[in-house]
Amino acid sequence: MSSSGGPLARTTYMHQEEGAALTSDVTTLKFEDFPPAFKGAVLRPGDDGYSQARQLWNMRRGDDSPALIVQPIDVLDVVDAVKYARQQSISIAIRSGGHGVDGHAMPHDALVIDFSRMKNIHVDPETGRATLEAGILLGEMDSATQEFGYAVPAGVVSETGVAGLALGGGIGHLSRRFGATVDSMLSIEVVTVEGEQLTVSADSHPDLFWGIRGAGHNLAIATSFTFQAYKVGPQVVSGVLVYSPGEAIALCSGIDAAMAKSPRDLSIATVFTQAPPLPGLPEELVGTPLMLAIVVYVGPVEDYEAAMTEVNALATPMADMVRPSTWCEANSLGDLFQPSGRRYHSGGGYAAATSGELAELALNLVAAAPPPTSPATGCLIGFPMLGGALLDGDEDSCAFSRRGAAWLCETVAMWDNDGADDEFMNWVDDSVDAMAPYLTGNGYINLTADRGAEWLPGVYGSPEKWQRIVELKRTWDPDNVLSYNKNVLRAADRDRL
Ligand SMILES: Cc1cc2nc3c(=O)[nH]c(=O)nc-3n(C[C@H](O)[C@H](O)[C@H](O)COP(=O)(O)OP(=O)(O)OC[C@H]3O[C@@H](n4cnc5c(N)ncnc54)[C@H](O)[C@@H]3O)c2cc1C
Repeated sequence: MSSSGGPLARTTYMHQEEGAALTSDVTTLKFEDFPPAFKGAVLRPGDDGYSQARQLWNMRRGDDSPALIVQPIDVLDVVDAVKYARQQSISIAIRSGGHGVDGHAMPHDALVIDFSRMKNIHVDPETGRATLEAGILLGEMDSATQEFGYAVPAGVVSETGVAGLALGGGIGHLSRRFGATVDSMLSIEVVTVEGEQLTVSADSHPDLFWGIRGAGHNLAIATSFTFQAYKVGPQVVSGVLVYSPGEAIALCSGIDAAMAKSPRDLSIATVFTQAPPLPGLPEELVGTPLMLAIVVYVGPVEDYEAAMTEVNALATPMADMVRPSTWCEANSLGDLFQPSGRRYHSGGGYAAATSGELAELALNLVAAAPPPTSPATGCLIGFPMLGGALLDGDEDSCAFSRRGAAWLCETVAMWDNDGADDEFMNWVDDSVDAMAPYLTGNGYINLTADRGAEWLPGVYGSPEKWQRIVELKRTWDPDNVLSYNKNVLRAADRDRL
């Protein structure tokens, strides 16, 4: 690693935690001397486009005002922005899709590198290799790859950024069939905090490649990715089944055994929630605790019923909205559940198995949740099924932890008024604590809010893996230039701070 650029001073931001007092040292600078050679947009508070650019999915961070948002159009712009930040001794925030629940993408007073203008994507129809820039969103990646009949295994909501997702792991409807997004990552182009451009892969900086696949937000600035995509669709089967509480418990009592006998082309995510107004759902059930099962089947359409035989033997849904669809329709079903512009908090982990007991607990927690503040969903506990190809991958193959990950467990609250923050956030935190005895202890960094420095090391699954991640952070970003994330140095140095 080169040592160009001066040593970085530890800025006032380096240890700023969510909710900590804001400082104005950087804001007063206004970055008026930002390099004129930069070709993309440079937005300061009050500029046209600034308000639109600073919007994030989570409105709970909606009042933060970055001091400067820069929107590079190519890698050289990214290098310019990074070198400038080093000269000024300031840390850098990065926005790709703006879907991180902690709102680290647009922090108050920060200098933000916003990738929303870097959207080139190329799919090789022969090999299925997809190369895409860091501003690409999941829906855009699906549309481009589906033109040639491919899909990259990734997440389930169209507006999530590929970059933030892939750097943390990446799971979704195709995980059981093809593994995590990091398992399909062939190489990644980065700009280091020294402003150096690198290609990172199994053959080039393999140690960094190990770390970037799971702890990537902490290590370098990703500018583009190359993934191996797989043949999927375009015709698949997808939709939602609705189960009463009793049938939900019956289904969850046997679903592990049933899915073990079902093809990996079948993916199911159970969602316990106060029922939203869904087409086909009797009005008197809206607002009562129910279980939805989001089903996606990517095998031959005519084999769907056979694939569901074992699952259907367990319980009878009260509504069945599963139909043939395109892959793009299937992979945007999740868009309905967590729209942009509401206030959010989340937490979770992995479950090695599910059970009637866990389903009953989830139903009770949802029943005790604060009532929704709009006609849409309020609080939910989701269990997307993992296992399969995801568990074929070696736990030590990369920083992303998967040990025991038969199911993801994700507890999410969404609401609309800041006066209700404590009520909804406490519900999430208490629910995660209540489910802890059923969870594995490790977890998935991307689908939970930051639970602090004590919690972070355990997410990565073992002290050895954590140590390796800390060493990589000390090598590639010793001064914590990349501090707006679930921060490795803050956790590693927690006893010294
Ligand atoms: C509605 C919703 C649905 C989701 N569904 C899924 C899902 O199905 N599967 C799944 O795996 N995850 C899912 N996630 C979680 C998602 O993977 C993470 O929130 C991820 O961080 C989002 O990436 P982003 O680029 O949109 O985030 P941003 O908010 O832009 O960034 C999040 C973090 O990543 C860092 N970062 C972003 N871009 C870069 C970059 N180019 N280089 C270095 N660091 C970068 C930022 O510094 C920040 O710390 C979902 C999130 C939401 C809000």
